[in-house]
Amino acid sequence: MRDVPTYEFRCRSCGSTFEVQRPMAASSDPAACPEGHDDTVKLLSMAGLGGSSAPAPSGGGGGCCGGGCCG
Ligand SMILES: [Zn+2]
Repeated sequence: MRDVPTYEFRCRSCGSTFEVQRPMAASSDPAACPEGHDDTVKLLSMAGLGGSSAPAPSGGGGGCCGGGCCG
């Protein structure tokens, strides 16, 4: 069971964004950026929780005409 959400933070000191995986109970805890700065803000990023409805690419031939069975 690994449904630990990923939170995106942005450092206001160096301007970099980084992701932190932590349980929801600790979602509001401060996070230091990879550079060690403490002045970070949490971005609202609810992506990655599933529900992607991108259309799957259709097709995908059966491989008939590639195996010599068509001619
Ligand atoms: Zn930083």
